[in-house]
Amino acid sequence: MPPRHLIRTSDFSTAEILTLFVNALHYKQLLASKTPTHHPLKHKNVITIFFENSTRTLSSFELAVKNLGGDILRLDVSRSSTSKGETISDTAANLNAMNPDAIIIRHKNAGAGYYLSSQVNCPIINGGDGAHSHPTQALLDLLTIMEHFGLEELLATEGRSDIAPIAPLDSIRGKKIAIVGDVINSRVANSNLELLTRFGMEVILVAPPHFLPQSELRTSDDLRTIAKEVDVIMSLRTQTERHNQVIYGSLKDYALRFCVTKEILGDSPCIILHPGPVHRNIDIDDEVLKDPRSKVLEQVTNGVCVRMAALDFLIA
Ligand code: ASP
Repeated sequence: MPPRHLIRTSDFSTAEILTLFVNALHYKQLLASKTPTHHPLKHKNVITIFFENSTRTLSSFELAVKNLGGDILRLDVSRSSTSKGETISDTAANLNAMNPDAIIIRHKNAGAGYYLSSQVNCPIINGGDGAHSHPTQALLDLLTIMEHFGLEELLATEGRSDIAPIAPLDSIRGKKIAIVGDVINSRVANSNLELLTRFGMEVILVAPPHFLPQSELRTSDDLRTIAKEVDVIMSLRTQTERHNQVIYGSLKDYALRFCVTKEILGDSPCIILHPGPVHRNIDIDDEVLKDPRSKVLEQVTNGVCVRMAALDFLIA
């Protein structure tokens, strides 16, 4: 059987995602109670190769592999042969010749993971490719949202084979989420658009016009008004590294209208997400980050468990 890959969220069916979440919650419980997990990745070698910077995603994947008993080989890209001009195709052939059990890649070019998957014999997990896709981030975001709205329905899906491919859970169907900021350059937004709409959430894109993609979705440039009607706000970092030219007056001007502040939230019960790294007081203000409605650190905790479940699913 050819290996499965996780390049985009659409690589996993709805039923597979629900199974993966149930498994992730199981791992979460074990980690929280410091109970050792079984080691499905024992004697398995996983290569991480990150051509773009990362704090959370790389450490989260590496921790996930270790928690499952696997071995990590981190390729230091600044010292690797790609920095000496080796093509990604040759790098791929060489990595493949080492017979890894999976490769986790991050690259500034959209499609790098997809291309790599055609060159190797093991699962490829996309840790972010350009502005295209960041599937494990979207999965951990969705699990964090589900946790907030109640897990009974999700846990009841365990072992069921009759799961509808579209919007299978009442607990989140119809809930409204505002995705705020540099949507057009955000792989996190891109992956979430596919996943959250598949699970029946209503997505509103909130941004200045130059940060909005062409989309059928509802859009707005008025965070203050939209914040009053949504259940979730997902704030994004302004992806200056992907801007060919400066397309905003200043981050300070941007923040005046799009920073999620305590004053904008008022007493709304909505929760706040951010994939990190947060530009404090530009994307979200200090007060909101300390507020119980902020689930930013919960996202990081869930990231390890979701990645454990994804590795378990693809490799073990
Ligand atoms: N960490 C996320 C990513 O790699 C978001 C960001 O960098 O702003 O896409």
